[in-house]
Amino acid sequence: MVTSADLALMDGNILTMNASQPYAEAVAIKDGRILKVGTNDAVSQLIGENTKIIHLKGKTVVPGFIDAHIHVADFGRLLGWLDLAAMASIQEMQLTLKKRVESTPKGKWIIGKGWDQTRFAEQRLPTRFDLDVASPENPVIFYHKLGQMCVVNSKALELAGVTKQTTKPAEGSIAKDTATGELTGILQGTAMNLVWKAIPEPSEEELAEAVALACGKIVKVGITSVHWIVLSAAELAVMQRLLAQNKLPMRVYLIIPATFIDNVADFKVNDNLSLRIGGVMITVDGYLASKTAALFQPYNNGSESGIMLCTRDEIVTVASRILKMNLQPVLHAMGDRAVDAALTAIEQMSEEPLRKLERIRIEHAAVLNKELIDRMKKLGVVVSVQPLVIASEFSAWSALENLGVERARWLYPLKTLLENGIRVIGGSDCPMEPLNPLMGIQAAVLREVFPEENVTVEEALRMYTVDAAYAAGEENFKGSIETGKLADLTVLSHDPRRVHPTAIANIAVQMTIVGGKIICSKIT
Ligand SMILES: [Zn+2]
Repeated sequence: MVTSADLALMDGNILTMNASQPYAEAVAIKDGRILKVGTNDAVSQLIGENTKIIHLKGKTVVPGFIDAHIHVADFGRLLGWLDLAAMASIQEMQLTLKKRVESTPKGKWIIGKGWDQTRFAEQRLPTRFDLDVASPENPVIFYHKLGQMCVVNSKALELAGVTKQTTKPAEGSIAKDTATGELTGILQGTAMNLVWKAIPEPSEEELAEAVALACGKIVKVGITSVHWIVLSAAELAVMQRLLAQNKLPMRVYLIIPATFIDNVADFKVNDNLSLRIGGVMITVDGYLASKTAALFQPYNNGSESGIMLCTRDEIVTVASRILKMNLQPVLHAMGDRAVDAALTAIEQMSEEPLRKLERIRIEHAAVLNKELIDRMKKLGVVVSVQPLVIASEFSAWSALENLGVERARWLYPLKTLLENGIRVIGGSDCPMEPLNPLMGIQAAVLREVFPEENVTVEEALRMYTVDAAYAAGEENFKGSIETGKLADLTVLSHDPRRVHPTAIANIAVQMTIVGGKIICSKIT
C-alpha cells in the first residue's frame, strides 16, 4: 500500500537548500515530516483522499527561516509600548496617551517610545505637565526615538522618588526649569534608569501574554525556529507554560546566561523538537555602541578600549562545564581583544582530550583581522551575526569614525568569513532591530560600506536556514527541504534570487508551516 500525504504543495518554485537536489516543484508532507521532494508528477503519486493540496502557482518555498539571535520576551514587552514615531505635536501625543489611559488599569505604567521634538508643531520638548494633563494617575515614561532621553510624568517621578533634590548620576542629567527650578520631566542618559528601575517586573501572566503576542508576529514573517536569548528565569517558566498550552507556534532553541546553569536541571519538556535548552552564553565583553566592546587599540578620538567581562581562564572553566552538560558554549565577543581571548580559551581547551569543541559559537565577532579569521577557521567556530545590526554600526554608530578606516574594513567581514569556510549564521537581534529575516537578508546582500563584504542571496539564505540549523546541531532534521526532515516551510510571494536586491525586504511571506501544520496563510 502506498502511503498518502497529509499535505501536498504543488506547482512551486522550491529552493531546498539541499545541494544534492537544489530545486523542486512539489513537496509532500506526512506526520509533520517531509515525505517527498520532487516533480509535480512524483508528488502527485502520494496524493490520497485525505491529502490537502495547495496550488502554489509558481510561488517560492524555502526552508522555514531560523532566527539565530532574538530576545523574544523583550520583543513581546515592547509590543505593549505606545508607538510615538508618527506624533506631529505634543497635543497629538497627549490625545494618544489619554486614549491609552482609558484602557489601562489605574496605577499601571504606560510606556512609549519614538517621539521626536523636531517633528512637533510646538517646536519644544514635551514636559511632565503635558503628560500630567492626559495621565494624572498612571505613571508614564516616553522614550525619545534615539533612546538617550525620555519624558516622564509627575506620577512616575513620585514613584521613582526623584525630586528637585535628587543628585544627577554620572553620565546623566535631570532637567529643571530655568525660571522655577521645577523638574521638567526630561531625563537623559543614566538618569533614565532612576525611573526605569521603579517599573515593576511583569507578572508571569503578563509576560506569557506578551510572549504569545511576540510569537504570533514571529511566525507571520516566516520564522519557524528561533534561537532565543534568555535574560530572565521568568522567561523559562513562561515558555514551559506556553508549550503545555500549545501556544508556542515555532520551535525554540534556548540560549541561557551562564549564571543559570545550576538552576536548569528541573527544566523539563516532553517534546525536545519544540523547545530545549541548547546554548549557554558567556559574555566576554560589551558592545560597540557603548564603546565597551574590548579592543586591542583604543577607540578613535579617545583613550577607552572597552572592557573585558571575564578572563580567558574563566572562559575555559565555564565553557568546559557547559560542554560536560552536553550544551553549546556561546561566547559573546565583539571587539578583537575579546575574540582573541575567546579563541585562546578554545585553543587551550583543545589541548584537553575528548572535548567536543566544534560549533562553539561566537556571538557578533564584530572587529576581526586576518589572524583571528585564520584561527576561527582552524577551530571550526560558528559566527553569529545580525545583518541589520551591521548596517546600524556603520550608519547610526559611525563605525568609520569610531574605529578608523583600517579597523572598520574588518568589521563584520561576512564574505571573507565565508570564503574561509567559516559558518556564518543570521539573526535579527529583535527588538533592537526589525524582526523580518528578509530585511536581514537584504542587508547582508546590499551592504553600503565595504561592499566587497556583501554576500550572495544564496549565501544569505543559508545563514537563516541550513547553517543556522548546523549551529544548533540540528542539521539532521532541520534547515533544508529533504525527505525525512521536519516539515518547517515558508512560502514567499517572490524568489529572493530573482527580484532586484533592493526589493528583497518587500517580498511577502504568504504561508508559514511548522511541522506540517499551516500556522498562518494568505493563500486562499
Ligand atoms: Zn542581542
